[in-house]
Amino acid sequence: MRIFDPHIHMTSRTTDDYQRMADAGVRAVVEPAFWLGQPRTNPGSFTDYFDSIIGWEPFRASQFGIRHHATIALNPKEANDPRCRPVLDLLPRYLAKDGVVAVGEIGYDSMTPAEDEAFSAQLALALDHDLPALVHTPHRDKARGTQRSIDVIKESGIDPGRVALDHLNEVTVDAARDAGVWIGFSIYPDTKMSPDRMVEILRKHGTERVLVNSAADWGKSDPLLTVRTAEAMLAGGFSAEDVDQLLWQNPVAFYSQSGRLDLSDVDGAEATFAGNSILRGGS
Ligand SMILES: [Zn+2]
Repeated sequence: MRIFDPHIHMTSRTTDDYQRMADAGVRAVVEPAFWLGQPRTNPGSFTDYFDSIIGWEPFRASQFGIRHHATIALNPKEANDPRCRPVLDLLPRYLAKDGVVAVGEIGYDSMTPAEDEAFSAQLALALDHDLPALVHTPHRDKARGTQRSIDVIKESGIDPGRVALDHLNEVTVDAARDAGVWIGFSIYPDTKMSPDRMVEILRKHGTERVLVNSAADWGKSDPLLTVRTAEAMLAGGFSAEDVDQLLWQNPVAFYSQSGRLDLSDVDGAEATFAGNSILRGGS
């Protein structure tokens, strides 16, 4: 089994986690930029963080045979903090970097006017830089937040096939499906979405354009919940090919849209996907 976790915050995890992930078949991860759990006090705090998730963290992952890419953005929560907003001007510099495969996490936290502005501005950056976008849906008032996110995505003019709407659940999945975006699910230890609930969603919606991640961070989370979901799928009658599509081929297809996903020399990775090279440079 080969696993690609399309949303995990490795900077807040230990080397033991990398080892357990590697042992369980995790071969690739994408680390979206998000908040630290405490407020940043100035834009310089972002630059050190961004440098870390595109430099140090890929190196750390490589020690365990795991390929690491990142997404860069001003996260929804800190979009409300005037001390943080100037980072929007620094983003283009980072969005030009090799290891950056999307703009994200963007979207809504509390659905404030400041969040509206940052969300739209960063969808425009995704269009400018020809990158996909990873959009977080709020944990509170999720149904309204999801619908409003879909409206903003439509208004932006970005191709919905280049957007992943994440942290969905049984209540929000239909609206996201209808909007034509990739549908993302974060699997948590006790709350929100579990592996068994995910299997039920897959029975109803299939595995096309679905992304499953652990969203593991400094909170109560588990970087092996992608693997646990794969096991629940197999136990529930899905084939090994279905598992491979969901937990490897789908994230490869989504992030390949950046033109920057580099899985060369990753154990178990193929050099092509659906006949297209995923190697940088298109060779
Ligand atoms: Zn996240």
